[in-house]
Amino acid sequence: MALKTFSRDQVAKLVIIDSKVYDLSKFAKVHPGGISVLLDSEIAGQDATERFYELHRTEVIEKYTRLQVGVVEGEEVAPSRVPGAISSVPYAEPTWLAPGGYHSPYYKEHHRRFQKVYRRFVEDVVVPDAQARESDGQAPSKHVVEEMCRLNILAMQIGPGKHLNGRVLMDGLISHEEFDPFIELIITQSAAKLHARGYNDGLGGGTIIGLPPVINFAQPALRDRVVEDALSGKRPICLAVTEPFAGSDVAGIRTRARKTEDGYWIVNGSKKWITTGTRAHWFTTACRTDDGEIVVLLIERGDGVETKPIKTLYSATAGTAFITFDNVRVPDSHRLGPGTPGLLIILTNFSHERWVLVAHNIARQRVIYEECMKWANQRKVFGKPLSSQAVVRQKLAAMIARFESCQSWLEAITFQMCRMSPEEQAKNLAGPIALLKMHATRESQKTAADAVQIFGGRGITKTGTSLRMHPSDESAHFVSSFGHGAVRRAFSPLSFDRLAAAPRV
Ligand SMILES: Cc1cc2nc3c(=O)[nH]c(=O)nc-3n(C[C@H](O)[C@H](O)[C@H](O)COP(=O)(O)OP(=O)(O)OC[C@H]3O[C@@H](n4cnc5c(N)ncnc54)[C@H](O)[C@@H]3O)c2cc1C
Repeated sequence: MALKTFSRDQVAKLVIIDSKVYDLSKFAKVHPGGISVLLDSEIAGQDATERFYELHRTEVIEKYTRLQVGVVEGEEVAPSRVPGAISSVPYAEPTWLAPGGYHSPYYKEHHRRFQKVYRRFVEDVVVPDAQARESDGQAPSKHVVEEMCRLNILAMQIGPGKHLNGRVLMDGLISHEEFDPFIELIITQSAAKLHARGYNDGLGGGTIIGLPPVINFAQPALRDRVVEDALSGKRPICLAVTEPFAGSDVAGIRTRARKTEDGYWIVNGSKKWITTGTRAHWFTTACRTDDGEIVVLLIERGDGVETKPIKTLYSATAGTAFITFDNVRVPDSHRLGPGTPGLLIILTNFSHERWVLVAHNIARQRVIYEECMKWANQRKVFGKPLSSQAVVRQKLAAMIARFESCQSWLEAITFQMCRMSPEEQAKNLAGPIALLKMHATRESQKTAADAVQIFGGRGITKTGTSLRMHPSDESAHFVSSFGHGAVRRAFSPLSFDRLAAAPRV
């Protein structure tokens, strides 16, 4: 075999990472610190694997495979991660997915079939866009929205119901009989893998909470039109309940709807913090009549409707809006559920919304833990990995106990959703779901605090090996930057049984 030859000068510009040889001078072109940082840092011509992973994620090296010039003779090169693969970090997957033969009463073959394909779709199609848009604050890209709609993912995120009629689910991967709230749970919890909280809300947030009142309470002709608009992604919808004056106290809303003699409503008022409101075409809007009654009107974007972005702690991709209605004319046929009190329409919507929030929250706790586990094994402090400190291992164990117990409760409730009618769910599950939301979000705040502790300064910065989180919003959901790669150490310092055998990721 003809071997490539190197001059001594050239060798000084090579570096070994994971038994692969890279050309440092090529790295220098993309490295923020330039060539001098790389040459001065005593890595040139050496095996820099350990130094590299002290400061970088695996994704960094995966991104630059084109800069690889060879491999070290006789050394085994670890295979690259297969896209969509189950994480090999212990407890990074719910137990039904974890390697080791766990049994579940809930998940069947079709759930596994769906999960496998769906995760691959998320990684291939959604994650790259989520990362780009989360940082530039733009709306989710058209090609992603179109694909989500074509596969009817957005429709499935609303759960079982008549809006699914006639729709092919995920290119026929599952049948209508197989679709159930556990498929919805898989989709919802997969969003944590985006590591992009604002993007996720921007992608489906408005539809998931804004469309169900239309599906359940609008007159058929209007319902079909709006469902098609929203689920095709062409004219999105949002839920406009909260106002500057009334948040928790929904019954205290002040947006006025005055009935005219020619069969219209004239709407005046403002709404605050409306997810995807900046881009929405339809607004499921809670209003108060002159009689003091609450009505829900479906308002179309047009004359008198103005939306402005509100800055939040997460990305502007969520499209969070301040909305003003200035003498907006709304046909009476756009009133939802004549005969059903407006407050009831709003309140029946909340349980599913809370279930979605809880599912997101618990999945994100798990993702945060995974980040912490990787970092604690990767980061050396005082000459030892962080994970060798008992206090750090105790925090990781506490995180696992928190999200695993929450997940078990969530799955128990989800199973009830599979068996109960919508009416039974409204009667029996509103309490447990609200309690779980209270419990999970409080538990997640403890995990957020522990995660910041484990990440140190990187716990509050945005770039590099950082962990971003904002435990301050209403459900204390938090976000992390896109996952670490390598677990740079064997898990031997950790005493949990499943850690010992974990391979590098
Ligand atoms: C990012 C984001 C997105 C949102 N998206 C939407 C959306 O799409 N559509 C929509 O309609 N709304 C949306 N909201 C609004 C959200 O639903 C409200 O923030 C929530 O209902 C709480 O209202 P508030 O913020 O006005 O708090 P307030 O009602 O002012 O309450 C302040 C605090 O007091 C507590 N509190 C209130 N009453 C009591 C009480 N009786 N006893 C003890 N404590 C109490 C509350 O829990 C809260 O912690 C969004 C908010 C955020 C932050």
